[in-house]
Amino acid sequence: MDHIYMDYGSASPVDQRVIEAMHGHSGKLVGNPFSVHSGGRLARHLLEEARNKVSSLIAAEDGGKIIFTSGATEANNLALIGTALRGREKGNRIIISAIEHISVINAAKSLAKQGFEIVTIPVDDDGLLNTDLLQRSINDKTILVSIMHANGEIGTVQPIWEIGAITRDKGVPLHVDATAAAGNITINADIYKIDLLTISSNDLYGPQGAGALYVGPKVKIQPVILGGGQQNGLRSGAENLAGIVGFGKACEIAQSEMFNESAWLQGLRDELIEGVLNNIDRAYLTGSRYKRLPNHASFRFDYIEGESIILSLDMEGILASTGSACSSKTLEPSHVLLALGLSHEQAHGSLVLRLGRWSTRADVDAVLEVLPPIIKRLRAMSPLVPRMGAQHAGVY
Ligand code: PMP
Repeated sequence: MDHIYMDYGSASPVDQRVIEAMHGHSGKLVGNPFSVHSGGRLARHLLEEARNKVSSLIAAEDGGKIIFTSGATEANNLALIGTALRGREKGNRIIISAIEHISVINAAKSLAKQGFEIVTIPVDDDGLLNTDLLQRSINDKTILVSIMHANGEIGTVQPIWEIGAITRDKGVPLHVDATAAAGNITINADIYKIDLLTISSNDLYGPQGAGALYVGPKVKIQPVILGGGQQNGLRSGAENLAGIVGFGKACEIAQSEMFNESAWLQGLRDELIEGVLNNIDRAYLTGSRYKRLPNHASFRFDYIEGESIILSLDMEGILASTGSACSSKTLEPSHVLLALGLSHEQAHGSLVLRLGRWSTRADVDAVLEVLPPIIKRLRAMSPLVPRMGAQHAGVY
């Protein structure tokens, strides 16, 4: 059976043009970028080419560096731990939001055990950060603010330009996890006054196992992975050259196609959102209706578990998720949905549909056809539905 893929945020297919770019260089000449021979020179050239493409997609400030990593998790760890270790003489306060990716939250928790003070800023019921509280929470001991650009579970996009203006004014470095945002909305590290930025290859239809941390010219970090001193000593270990070449190509494609692609996806997204909300009772959008990623639709449904919806959709050939693939196996309610003020029960009924480069209107129509009867059937079996009398039968 052909699947309908609606889980682009958990993993994305690799674009054929990316695969060709990766094949194009492999087999020609072998070299470690550290080697002085011609193979090494070619490898260095390929790395530089990819760096320029990543820099260009995020509009990096002149003098900034792109540190290639194994993905977004490593880049987030490097941003938090690298800044904390480097800045511990200056202060110990690190500020994050309540809906950061688990890699930021767990890096922050590990720093808390080492004596850093972690301040978590709440969000409103749309998932938007309380910027007044952020401003008031920055004191002279603050060494980093880390706020994600867009959230992969609820699609909400933060006003990064406003946050960047606050942090720059206070002279505190800003780290932005732009993993879910990159390739979907414009990112401008320079204009938004972002000092550190995380980006991941697979979220841009590049290969898995590659990502980067942008380190702007105004900040200094300490390496976390030590070894031979590659990448200016900031991330030792031979670079994942084929992955990085693919990542660079993915950035180049995203930059030239994002405008049209996002406009098209936004239309499909809106059909999906309206179709679900208009045809299913007690269905609610999670995250902001308008300040959201163009490819992102996320819901919660009263009285049922998200996992049962995912399995039922899977039987119909539709692949979706309940939220963050990274922590959904814990079966704990998502910290993101709880931060919106939802109860544990409400947070369990979540469904996230993420569209991408190969989504079609027929995919959206298929979801809108099968989802209402799935919800009805699951509710008919659910012990959570209040059954007050026969007059309620079949209402949901
Ligand atoms: N940050 C955000 C915002 C994410 O959505 C994800 C997951 N795609 C990550 C970080 C972690 O990415 P990875 O598992 O590729 O390291």
